[in-house]
Amino acid sequence: MRAAVLNSVPGDLDIEDVAIDKPMANEVLIQTHACGLCHSDLSVMEGGLPFPVPAVLGHEAAGVVTAVGADVHEFAVGDRVVGCLSGFCGTCRECVVGNTWLCEDRPTLQRSPSDHSRLSRGDDPIGQLGQIGGFAEEMLLHRNGIVTVPDEIPLDRAALLGCAVLTGVGSVFNGAKVQPGSTVAVIGAGGIGVNIIQGAILAGASRVIAVDLRAEKLELAKVFGATDVV
Ligand SMILES: [Zn+2]
Ligand SMILES: [Zn+2]
Repeated sequence: MRAAVLNSVPGDLDIEDVAIDKPMANEVLIQTHACGLCHSDLSVMEGGLPFPVPAVLGHEAAGVVTAVGADVHEFAVGDRVVGCLSGFCGTCRECVVGNTWLCEDRPTLQRSPSDHSRLSRGDDPIGQLGQIGGFAEEMLLHRNGIVTVPDEIPLDRAALLGCAVLTGVGSVFNGAKVQPGSTVAVIGAGGIGVNIIQGAILAGASRVIAVDLRAEKLELAKVFGATDVV
């Protein structure tokens, strides 16, 4: 399959043929339909966010399941899914009490070093940013790192659920715990900021003030529900 590979840091992405393995017992193969470009991807390319290369970046990705491993029963071929950065092991003490986002054993979602790499070029393994690697025609993910999405959500919109939407909306509900009737100021109306804005509206904030230096971002902030812009 073709993938956009980061071969050096700082560096650009090279479109290359990359081998993708068959699913192991707990893995799911997905045909990628859409992947967002997050600033974290750019930070990896520029070296601000260290990640070993070669690697396939892209962690806001959605697609359709094309094959499942022998132990995967919750997903089937044809399912529409989105990759999830907060994959979980399911057996550590945080997971068993329901706090899967605090999972203490995320490395179990990776293949062990003795297994063949999910992605490779010749004999060389290629990494997957966020264990997703969405800038590719196909993705091979652990079953605990994907979520099904309803048919009515287009996959190019669903992809954003993988990072920007949950980061913004999650910060409203889980971080700031915005209460109905609140006034909320959102500093920066970029990809995360507009999702904080719509999250604040969802939480019942009566006034949402978007702050940004760029007029076009403030216009977009209004589309997402900002009541005031500065
Ligand atoms: Zn991101
Ligand atoms: Zn866990």
